[in-house]
Amino acid sequence: MKGETMEQLRTQLDEINMDLLRLLSRRADIVQRIGRVKQAQGVQRFDPLREKEMLDRIVSANPGPFDDSTIRHLFKQIFQASLQLQEEEKMHLLVSRKRRAEDTVVEVKGVRIGNGHPIVVAGPCSVETREQMETVGQGLRAQGIVVMRGGAYKPRTSPYDFQGLGREGLVMLRETADKYGMVAVSEIVNPADIEMATQYVDIIQIGARNMQNFELLKAAGSVRTPVLLKRGLSATIEELLFAAEYIMSRGNDQIILCERGIRTYEKATRNTLDISAVPILKQESHLPVFVDISHSTGRKDIMIPVAKAALAAGADGIMVEVHPEPSVALSDAKQQINLEQFGQLMDALREAGYLPPVAE
Ligand code: PEP
Ligand code: MN
Repeated sequence: MKGETMEQLRTQLDEINMDLLRLLSRRADIVQRIGRVKQAQGVQRFDPLREKEMLDRIVSANPGPFDDSTIRHLFKQIFQASLQLQEEEKMHLLVSRKRRAEDTVVEVKGVRIGNGHPIVVAGPCSVETREQMETVGQGLRAQGIVVMRGGAYKPRTSPYDFQGLGREGLVMLRETADKYGMVAVSEIVNPADIEMATQYVDIIQIGARNMQNFELLKAAGSVRTPVLLKRGLSATIEELLFAAEYIMSRGNDQIILCERGIRTYEKATRNTLDISAVPILKQESHLPVFVDISHSTGRKDIMIPVAKAALAAGADGIMVEVHPEPSVALSDAKQQINLEQFGQLMDALREAGYLPPVAE
């Protein structure tokens, strides 16, 4: 055109480039949204028919000066990049921080887990008797504990060992927790029991031995009760996250991950506490992370430094087994601490500033 300078034409070109960029980004955003819908519906991402349809429509509207094959080529590149975008997003699990940047706070009956204030989950390995639960419940309450544990379905190594009181144990735990204003955590081992368990417990525990019991994970994902998911004895961090994904992909996003030690050649401790799992899980996932200081170590003499290490590493809470008389406990007698030792642990954590100074 007459009078147009090179500079003016270049300015126009720059503007068009920016317009194209904006349009491409807008297109990419819609592509991502379509990808999410496809994922939710379980539909295949690449749809050759749809792609052909779009290309044909574009080519038939081609005003030139590019020929049809060039237009086809250019748009195919855009389609390719879009598909790649959907694939990349698919790789990010729901439990991943890449999918949700902010921390998930698990909330149950006013107790908030994962909000920066560490929680101490305490109670016996197994629920044994009403008296035992009463003594522990009272002692825990005196220390300001708000989450009580107690196993009713015990996954024991030997079939001849105490297997737990079952539903009766859940009832005792519920009664004690209610009496002392605590929320209750207990392990469930059978997918068929998940629904029933929601009547008695506020948090369903999935134990190390069941971390890859996929039917159990699916069942826990289909209720809305929070889940405390323990790392398997020989599970990698990635496998733990995939196990959590089973729960979350079913719609239950109230999950607490729990590092409880892994199997190694070391015999000084029952398991080897993988302390680096804590900051890695916090980095990789938005879910709260606990450390079980009892099952990871199997010994009571190192509880205080191990608890401090867990909290220093960024754990949102610790779990510890407390029994009125550990020497006669029906399970895990060696690692359970009594109420006095529990008091010492709490004092040490308060003194170190990991817990607020006062108990009521
Ligand atoms: C428990 O907490 O009672 C238990 C059995 O732990 P884990 O599954 O980690 O062995
Ligand atoms: Mn135990």
